[in-house]
Amino acid sequence: MRAKDEFGPEYVLEVFDAKTGMQGVLVIDNTARGAGKGGMRMVPDVTTEEVMGLARAMTWKNALADIPFGGAKAGIKFDPKSPQKEAAIRAFADKVKVFIPHFYIAGPDMNTTEKEMGQFANQIGDMRATTGKPASMGGLPHELGSTGYGVALCIKTAVEFQGKKLNGMTVAIEGFGNVGTFAMKFLSEWGAKVVAVSDSKGVIYDTDGLNYDALMKTKAETGTVTAHGKGKVLPAADLFKLPVDILIPGARPNVITDANVNDVKAKIVAEAANIPMTYEVEKKLMKRGILVLPDFLANAGGVISSYCETMGWDEKKMFATVTEKITNNTKLVMQRAKDHDTRAAALAIAKERVIEGMKRKGWRK
Ligand code: NAD
Repeated sequence: MRAKDEFGPEYVLEVFDAKTGMQGVLVIDNTARGAGKGGMRMVPDVTTEEVMGLARAMTWKNALADIPFGGAKAGIKFDPKSPQKEAAIRAFADKVKVFIPHFYIAGPDMNTTEKEMGQFANQIGDMRATTGKPASMGGLPHELGSTGYGVALCIKTAVEFQGKKLNGMTVAIEGFGNVGTFAMKFLSEWGAKVVAVSDSKGVIYDTDGLNYDALMKTKAETGTVTAHGKGKVLPAADLFKLPVDILIPGARPNVITDANVNDVKAKIVAEAANIPMTYEVEKKLMKRGILVLPDFLANAGGVISSYCETMGWDEKKMFATVTEKITNNTKLVMQRAKDHDTRAAALAIAKERVIEGMKRKGWRK
C-alpha cells in the first residue's frame, strides 16, 4: 500500500458486504479545505492503492479549482454488468454512511452514472451525499457542458494572457463526446477555427473549418464524425500531428507518448482528457516552448459544477462560477509557470492552498 505523507490519507476504509459479495474502498485523502470530493467507480479489479492515488489527485484538483472541497475517491470491486449492481451500490452506501456528507461526497466515475448517484443518495437518505444526480433530484446535468466550456475558457484565457487572440486560431480536438462537443461549440463561438475532430472511427479534417451544428448532425445521424462528407478522413492517431495552433486531447489517457511527441506541431496543448500523457512527455513539449494546459487546470469545469450542485445553485450561477474560477486559476498558473512548466506551477498553487487550509485548522504550523 502507498505510504501516508504529510497530507494524508486521513481515512482508508475497506468494506465487504457478505450478501452481495461487494468489496469496496473509500479513501478520504485530505479534508482541510472541506469534505473529500471524488468519483465513485465500479470496476471488478479496482485496488486500494489505485484509489489512494486517485484520491490524492482529487485533493490537488479541488484545491487548484479553488472550491471548498478536499480530496477523496471510492472504488467498488464488483462486476458493473451484474444484475446485482444496484444492490452493490446500496450496500456500499450503507457501509460508508457515517462519513457522508461531512467527510465524503460522491460523484459519477467509471461505470457509475446519474442513475447510480440517485440510488446512492437515496440509500444514504441525504441528497448532499453525491453530485451528478438526476435533475429531478437537484442534479446539474452533464449535458450542460461545464467541462467542455471550462476547457475552451482555459484556452482563451491562456491565449489572451500571451497577448494573442483566439480569433482565427486553428484547433484539433480528439473525441466528440461530452467534453469534445462543448469545447468545439464554445471555441467556435469565440472565433477559433476547428479544423479537425476525431472519434473512435477516425479524424475528419477540413482546413476550411468544420461547422459545429453540421458536425453534430452528422454524429447524431451516422454515429461518427468521419461520415461528414466535406473534408478528409484520416486515421485517429493522425490527429496529434496536424499543423494546428491548438491541440486538445479530449478522449483517452496516454495518447501522446515518446513515440509521437516530436510529431506534435501545435503551439498549445490543452488536456481536456485525464492524463493524456505523462509528466515526462509533457516536459518534452514544454522544452520546445509549447504551452501545456494541464488536465487538472483545463478540465476543472466539471468539479466546479459539482460544487455548485452541492450549493443548490442553478445553471446560470454555475456558469458564472466556472467562468470566474477557470479564468482566475488559468491566469495564476500562467503567471507562476517558470520554464514553461505549467504543471509544476499548478501543483505548487494547489499545495499552498491545502497547506493554508491545514494551518487554518491548526493541523500544522
Ligand atoms: P464521452 O464518453 O462523452 O466521449 C468520449 C469520446 O471519445 C467519444 O466521442 C468517443 O467516440 C471518443 N473516442 C473513443 N475512442 C477514441 C479514439 N480512439 N480516438 C478518438 N476518439 C475516441 O467522454 P467525455 O465525458 O467527453 O470524457 C472525455 C475525457 O475527458 C475522459 O478522459 C474523461 O475522463 C475526461 N473528463 C471528463 C469530464 C466530464 O465532465 N465529462 C470531466 C473531466 C475529465
